[in-house]
Amino acid sequence: MCEPNVDEPLNPQAAHTIEHIGATLLRNGHYKEHIIYFGPMGCMTGFYLITRDLDFETVKNLVKEIFEAIASWNQDIPGAKKEECGNYTYMDLEKAKQSASFFINSSWEHSYHYL
Ligand SMILES: [Zn+2]
Repeated sequence: MCEPNVDEPLNPQAAHTIEHIGATLLRNGHYKEHIIYFGPMGCMTGFYLITRDLDFETVKNLVKEIFEAIASWNQDIPGAKKEECGNYTYMDLEKAKQSASFFINSSWEHSYHYL
């Protein structure tokens, strides 16, 4: 999502928020049968997405679609109730939206190098 050691890394609360929204969209979306894992990298520069039986072009389009949805998210954060998440107040939707927007608008072309 950002250039390693150049751009500011993700805020961890924003990454947690992106994880919740992204995982929910991926697990319930058109390609749900192909999604194995989505979660943040420890270095806070991006996410791992593990899929099966999807071509690269499909995955790239899916990632863009998911992050566009996150950038304009205006609903409750999914799975963010006390009974659903072990650190449910550790969220920052505004920073998540800013980071998703940065990824799509500023670093998307560059990020192809890391996909
Ligand atoms: Zn959580």
